[in-house]
Amino acid sequence: MPKFVYDFTEGNKDLKDLLGGKGANLAEMTNLGLPVPPGFTITADACRVYLEHGQEPPELREQVSQYLDALEAKMDKKLGQADGPLLVSVRSGAKFSMPGMMDTVLNIGLNDESVLGLAAQADGADSDGKADRFAWDSYRRLIQMFGKTVLGVDGEHFDEALEDVKKAKGTHNDLDLTAEDLRGLVESFKTIVEKEAGRTFPQDPREQMDLAIRAVFESWNGERAKLYRRQERIPNDLGTAVNICSMVFGNLGMDSGTGVAFTRDPASGQTGVYGDYLQNAQGEDVVAGIRNTVPLQDLENIDAASYAELTDIMAKLEHHYRDLCDIEFTIERGKLWMLQTRVGKRTAAAAFRIAVQLVDEGLIGPDEAVDRVTGAQLAQLMFPRFDENAKAEMIAKGMNASPGAASGKAVFDSYTAVKWSRSGEKVILIRRETNPDDLNGMIAAQGILTSRGGKTSHAAVVARGMGKTCVCGAESLDVDTKRRRMTAPNGVVVEEGDVVSVDGTSGAVYLGEVPVVASPVVEYFEGRLGADSPKADDLVKAVHRIMTWSDERRRLYVRANADTPEDAARARRFGAQGIGLCRTEHMFLGERRALIERLILAGDDDDERQAALGELLPMQRDDFIAIFTAMGGLPVTVRLLDPPLHEFLPDITELSVRVAVAEAKGEQNEGDLRLLQAVHKMHEANPMLGLRGVRLGLVVDGLFMMQVRAIAEAAAQVAKAGGVARVEIMVPLVGAVQELEIIRDEAQQVLDEVKERTGADVRSLIGTMIELPRAALTAGQIAEAAQFFSFGTNDLTQTTWGFSRDDVEGAFFSAYLDRGIFGVSPFETLDREGVGRLVQIATEEGRKTRPELKLGVCGEHGGDPDSVHFFHEVGLDYVSCSPFRVPVARLEAARAAIESAASDSR
Ligand code: ADP
Ligand code: MG
Ligand code: MG
Repeated sequence: MPKFVYDFTEGNKDLKDLLGGKGANLAEMTNLGLPVPPGFTITADACRVYLEHGQEPPELREQVSQYLDALEAKMDKKLGQADGPLLVSVRSGAKFSMPGMMDTVLNIGLNDESVLGLAAQADGADSDGKADRFAWDSYRRLIQMFGKTVLGVDGEHFDEALEDVKKAKGTHNDLDLTAEDLRGLVESFKTIVEKEAGRTFPQDPREQMDLAIRAVFESWNGERAKLYRRQERIPNDLGTAVNICSMVFGNLGMDSGTGVAFTRDPASGQTGVYGDYLQNAQGEDVVAGIRNTVPLQDLENIDAASYAELTDIMAKLEHHYRDLCDIEFTIERGKLWMLQTRVGKRTAAAAFRIAVQLVDEGLIGPDEAVDRVTGAQLAQLMFPRFDENAKAEMIAKGMNASPGAASGKAVFDSYTAVKWSRSGEKVILIRRETNPDDLNGMIAAQGILTSRGGKTSHAAVVARGMGKTCVCGAESLDVDTKRRRMTAPNGVVVEEGDVVSVDGTSGAVYLGEVPVVASPVVEYFEGRLGADSPKADDLVKAVHRIMTWSDERRRLYVRANADTPEDAARARRFGAQGIGLCRTEHMFLGERRALIERLILAGDDDDERQAALGELLPMQRDDFIAIFTAMGGLPVTVRLLDPPLHEFLPDITELSVRVAVAEAKGEQNEGDLRLLQAVHKMHEANPMLGLRGVRLGLVVDGLFMMQVRAIAEAAAQVAKAGGVARVEIMVPLVGAVQELEIIRDEAQQVLDEVKERTGADVRSLIGTMIELPRAALTAGQIAEAAQFFSFGTNDLTQTTWGFSRDDVEGAFFSAYLDRGIFGVSPFETLDREGVGRLVQIATEEGRKTRPELKLGVCGEHGGDPDSVHFFHEVGLDYVSCSPFRVPVARLEAARAAIESAASDSR
């Protein structure tokens, strides 16, 4: 019989797949002997069965009963019994943390009778006379949460009723409400449930629990949760576990409270105690920003013993998990209870700092440090930041919740954020505080600004998770969402549409757009800021150490795609070990366009064609000399002209109009007429599948060989001048070995001739791109004629799927993502199953023919973390990506090597 339920004493932290992160870590803490309220976890398997069949697995009810009995025995109380009731929370918790995306219901087990029992029980513990109030407050919270999450009642109804009572009392603070007020509120809430949900609030405690469990299962497929998963690339089929946890109460008076804490600063990575605490409150009050929290350090004055115990536990947890942990806790009348822990989310900068701190503290080694950071985080550190020297008007300062520099038009609700950003505007989402319904707007915005809540508020946690700039808790700002404006203390009023800038690294908020400068990490990669220089901060030092460890560990070489000497030079500074793709098409633009027109108009006129080519040759040669020189002897792969020729010609409509106008005036222009004819002739319905790449080289006499000659002569010249030139001539869009053979033979002739004539030591290879399925499938033959392969995964993805990228991405990709056909665009991350399989076949069969065959990739996937891991696994020699992605690829190549070594030794 499948086991669907685990007691907290039965699980451990490695069972996240089954118990979810929350459940696995509650079990781990229980087994470490930490004070965790007893409870049990229903597995994610049970959720998956429920989602598939629309009902709970038949064994579940029985198993839950069994574990509930055991819990009741341990607590010596019965769920919801009239006197001294056991109350529980029903908490969602998936493998990956999804803050606030799914549901949790507290105080399950309260009903009209047990609420009295709860009051009596609380009274016994302490006679502050507030027990009645506490019990009714807990009961109204249950009906509110249950009504909202289980019965689907719009939460505003409850909020309004609560506001009405407060208004009648003339207060804003929920602590001013008496037991009598709250009892009245319970009645109003019950009426709301009856009216809105069409049923009464269930009095049977077990029914409450079962319905809540089901609601948690279903919350996995709520819109918010789905959107979050898409954003975070969390698979849709994992399901969530459900934790049943006996209640402890932070709302029993001023000697009680609840809080969240981090073992290091999740924003900067600095060591120390970080967190927020709220007296006389229950769990979600802290994150919801209902009342203002105090910094965790203040707990030392409020309750020194609990503070000491908590900091002790935090140190213990950090040692145990060997990483930054975040924690939820509650203090019930001076007794500390741990309610949650997990390895905490952190900013990119914090991740790098913490990884090297932990190495220095002896908790982890360099391999693990490299694996603790990601290419995506490194990319974030390379974003520009605000120029400190710019004159900018700071209007407020909040907390630096998630770093980055963002400017945009102020918007005050998510709907507008989404709408404006769809029409291409940059926006900053400004809210008093955010809640899970704001997720869409947060994704759409450049940055997020709130006037309430700390570093653990919803806005801060979610923004950090998304790597989005966020300033939170800028309390001096008066945010008026209804009137769509905010007012700064100096009287400045920001209306919707006004531009503001937020600095997530410092917490500053500016009026208007602030100019940006390169980040210190980019300065470091550029070689303008040495890691040992006194100006380098600990972040630059951390990046330097991680990159050094990475380069020692990776097997893949990393090259860059670079078409100009400037790009080539930057690529080298960023650590590229060669150029994997030097495109030659831009070399035909500008004033050289005229020469292409001449080439095309030449038709059968051989002399005319040779003349045009003859003029192009020296220009191309100079282009290559500059690039080879910049690369100083590192290999450079030059791709012969790839795009359809007509791309270099004038627009057909424009030209037609010109010809027609001229004709009407009786001024026939012979050249334009012939050009128009040629453009007409070359017009293609599917240019990407038309006359391009090697096909062009085979049809337009002399074009490719002019390029080969320019490459060879440039290399010879560089060699003659005392340099080294290693060139790899790459033929695009080959589908059959015969195409390559013709070009290869001609090119070899040109190369030999130039080498002989100049006597220069030119090292050259001739190879091909693999970007058509036929090329991949006949790679064994193609390798007979190719000394290297470079996978052009952009085209290979287009041709494997039959997608025209420019057409499909806007048209239906979002529907495909929504419907789970793929989790991420195959143009972003290599589709391992399809396109990847072709890469694998070509790799194996190519190497069978020619063991020394050099293999690389030059599509955009070369800089995508997940794809880099694939290319490592499949055994390529190098990846090539844009210069700015080179550090990312270096890091990810190392992580791939470390991870595959780890899984080999397993
Ligand atoms: P989330 O995943 O959104 O954080 P949780 O399941 O952690 O949801 O619960 C929400 C809040 O309720 C948290 O602050 C948590 O500490 C609190 N909470 C959950 N279970 C209990 C319990 N048994 N006793 C007291 N507070 C609880
Ligand atoms: Mg929680
Ligand atoms: Mg291509």
